[in-house]
Amino acid sequence: MSTVVQNILLAEPRGFCAGVDRAIEIVERALTKFGAPIYVRHEIVHNTYVVDNLKAKGAIFIEDLDDVPEGATLVFSAHGVSRAVQKEAVARGFQIFDATCPLVTKVHVEVAKLAKEGYEFIMIGHKGHPEVEGTMGQLDDGIHLVEEVEDVARVTPRQTERLAVVTQTTLSVDDAAHIATAIKARFPTVREPKHQDICYATQNRQDAVKLMSSQVDIVIVVGSPTSSNSNRLAEVARKLGTPGYMVDSAEDLQEEWFDGFSRVGLTAGASAPEILVRQVVERIKALGAVSVRTMPGQPETVKFPLPKGLKLGSEDDE
Ligand code: SF4
Repeated sequence: MSTVVQNILLAEPRGFCAGVDRAIEIVERALTKFGAPIYVRHEIVHNTYVVDNLKAKGAIFIEDLDDVPEGATLVFSAHGVSRAVQKEAVARGFQIFDATCPLVTKVHVEVAKLAKEGYEFIMIGHKGHPEVEGTMGQLDDGIHLVEEVEDVARVTPRQTERLAVVTQTTLSVDDAAHIATAIKARFPTVREPKHQDICYATQNRQDAVKLMSSQVDIVIVVGSPTSSNSNRLAEVARKLGTPGYMVDSAEDLQEEWFDGFSRVGLTAGASAPEILVRQVVERIKALGAVSVRTMPGQPETVKFPLPKGLKLGSEDDE
């Protein structure tokens, strides 16, 4: 079948969220203010373009604090870190800037507060994801991870009177709700978060893809393979029966995906910059698309303040 792409529908909102904007700005300001190199624990956000761009400006991304020299400036990534990592970084005397998204920090604070009241936790999240490691690492023990409904039956808390649910911020809203229902069925008195932990950006981007999926033949998500929220966007489309593909950049697009399809939906994960979306649009136009339309969507006005000590020039706060 020949390619007949005609229309591109852009999801709204898409791309950078307030937490990602803030995290990147923290590294950029640290580079401007203190000069290269600036050490960053883990990829500041899960996006290849963003990380490569900051590397070119002098950021060095590390996983192990042993790789950070004495006296260096260290930034924690947007995903957050465990208490152990935080303590070790302080003990080693690094100049630290914390780019943990304030919505992740909110979960950490809730865990610490409820733990003092004797709570144990069931965390819904993806094993090995740095945010999950950071949140679980707020306590020495007492956080039980569940990744899917089947895991709920295997949880073995020490007691069931004081159990609370926490979640990773970038999950599938629907999958998390199913797992939460299974938890509630097994532990009816479990405490659920007052406002769910899945963040506004994850929710809004998934809602936009849900709305878009029925209006297009294929959904392309700009996002890196490590990006949890980007993966979830492609999944949301596929669950609704629309083929969904993730691309890290325009070069990843494969012409055969579009065979026989005329309407392409395009979105981007919370860590993917708009420049990549524009490059993907150009590539799809080269396949024949003649119209580009942006869907109406939920406006986002969230903005998070920067940590102290990063103001520049005349805005200096020190
Ligand atoms: Fe924060 Fe959500 Fe963005 Fe993650 S996706 S950085 S939790 S706003």
